[in-house]
Amino acid sequence: MEKETTILIVEDEEKIARFLELELRHEGYQVLKANGGRSGLALAESGGADLMVLDVMLPEMNGFEVLRRLRKTSKLPVIMLTARDEVMDKVAGLDGGADDYMTKPFAIEELLARIRLALKKRGAELQKEDMLTYGELGMDLARHEVRYAGEPVSLTPREFELLRVLLANKNIVLSRDVLLEKVCGYDYPGETNVIDVYVRYLRSKLDDVYHVKLIQTVRGVGYCIRE
Ligand code: CA
Repeated sequence: MEKETTILIVEDEEKIARFLELELRHEGYQVLKANGGRSGLALAESGGADLMVLDVMLPEMNGFEVLRRLRKTSKLPVIMLTARDEVMDKVAGLDGGADDYMTKPFAIEELLARIRLALKKRGAELQKEDMLTYGELGMDLARHEVRYAGEPVSLTPREFELLRVLLANKNIVLSRDVLLEKVCGYDYPGETNVIDVYVRYLRSKLDDVYHVKLIQTVRGVGYCIRE
C-alpha cells in the first residue's frame, strides 16, 4: 500500500482547523494539527508532513515567520491562509517561499484543488532530485539502485556514494581529498588512495562490463565524469 499523504494544519481558529481536518480526512489524507506558530514549525521540521496549510495570523509566531524559518531547511509545500484580502500579504507569502495562498473565507473545493496541485508539483520535483543519470546509467537515490541500460548493477555503499558524488558533480574534477571527505566523511583515518581503490571497483563493475569509459582520471588532480 502506498504511504498516506499527511497534511499539517497550522491554524489557531479551532472551528476552521476542525473543518479542514474533517474535509481532508474525508479526502483520504492524514492530518496533523497545531494551533500556534512555534508548535506548527516544530511539527513541520520534524518531517512528518507532506504539505502545510499555514494561517498568517497566529499566536506565538506569525505565519510569515514560520515560513521564513522553515525555508532555511525545508522545501515542504506550504499554502498560506490569510484573513485579510491584502495584496501585500500575498506578495509577502509568495516571496517568502509559499507555494500558494488562499484568502479567507475560501471555498474548500478550491483549497483541495490547490493542495493536490502543490503535492503533484513537489512529487515531480522529488522524483527528479532522486534520479541521477548519465547516458545509459541511472541512479535511483530513493531506492538506492543503480542500473545500466536497465540492468541492475550491484554496488557496495561506498561505491554507490562515490558514483553518486561524481554524477552529482558532472563535469567537475574532484580531488581525492574532496572525494574522500564526501564519500568516507571528515574524520576518515585512511589514505586518499582508497578512492583509487573504489574507482577501480566501479570501473570493474561498469566500464569493464558495459565497455564504456565512465570515470575519467585527471592526472595529478582527481576524477571526473564528463558529459
Ligand atoms: Ca488565525
